Amino acid sequence: MRTISDHSPLVDAFGRVHTSLRISVTDRCNIRCFYCMPNEGVRFRPREELLSFEEIARFAGVVGQMGVRRLRLTGGEPLVRAHLHRLVELLAALPAIEDLALTTNGMLLPEQAADLRAAGLERINISLDTLSEATFQEISRREGLDRVLKGIAVAQQVGFRQIRLNAIAIQGLTEGEIVPLAQFARERGLELRFIEYMPLDGDEQWRSADVLDGATIRGVLEEAFGPLVPVASPHPSQPANEFEYARGGGRVGLIQPVSNPFCESCDRLRLTAEGQVRNCLFSTSEWDARDILRGGGTDDDLAELVRDCVGAKAPAHGIGSADFNRPDRAMFQIGG
Ligand code: SAM
Ligand code: SF4
Repeated sequence: MRTISDHSPLVDAFGRVHTSLRISVTDRCNIRCFYCMPNEGVRFRPREELLSFEEIARFAGVVGQMGVRRLRLTGGEPLVRAHLHRLVELLAALPAIEDLALTTNGMLLPEQAADLRAAGLERINISLDTLSEATFQEISRREGLDRVLKGIAVAQQVGFRQIRLNAIAIQGLTEGEIVPLAQFARERGLELRFIEYMPLDGDEQWRSADVLDGATIRGVLEEAFGPLVPVASPHPSQPANEFEYARGGGRVGLIQPVSNPFCESCDRLRLTAEGQVRNCLFSTSEWDARDILRGGGTDDDLAELVRDCVGAKAPAHGIGSADFNRPDRAMFQIGG
């Protein structure tokens, strides 16, 4: 049996080394983006099913000993989980972890940004799909763009090492947002990344025709701001194709899971809020870490589970192929 005393890297059958873990801390959210959650009647996991902060930190400590160096907290909306900064403190103290980041819709950042920064959070991605309150409500079925904008401003004040903006691009809905969002990010010195819409919406309404693809977005940006020059990423496994504005104004990224999948260099594992380990957003299998965490299992048992999960990883997600199967969970239930 391979154990945690075996510190060899988490390599899958295709030679991909796994160094990154995305941790969902809740399936709940304070808004209802149509590309992620149903609008009404969402059944959330009961509180006792969610991993405690101590359980999450134990799991992260074990995978840290197996080569994981980067953690990202997500959800659902991670900031609706009470006292999240305490989890950040536990994770920031893990010796193996070199990079600790969070993805948020930003609405609760005005209250929490300072505590999160003080607890050791270094990088933050804030989702911002539009600068129009009407479009915000159309997407999120709730009010609150002003809260998100305030959250961005407060995050800038508290001095995170990096703040990025994430914008989902939807055909027929957000074409007109591309230039204003890019302008907003350029004026504030923030990197904006456009993300193609993936088939993970709770209502299962996704159609390939809804995807506003990266090449189109690049064309719109170049028309407005001049040429974009591709830049090499410091982390080859990172999903964004990054560009510099040749005429100045920083960088912009395109994340193209549909039109240009990055599966070949994927180095990610995922832990759902209720303690299931997944090797892909689109995985249809999960490995139950909570059972081990709560059933008196050892760190070696956890390590073996993670190796099994990595060993079973498929070469690619296959969106668009004839044999593609949607997972039976939506984005908010997996952790984006
Ligand atoms: N609630 C936080 C937020 O919205 O930033 C964190 C969780 S959310 C699931 C993480 C990221 O996934 C967000 O940037 C969101 O826009 C993105 N996302 C959600 N559903 C998606 C989909 N169907 N396709 C592509 N990205 C999606
Ligand atoms: Fe909530 Fe984020 Fe999903 Fe929007 S994308 S519903 S903010 S979890």
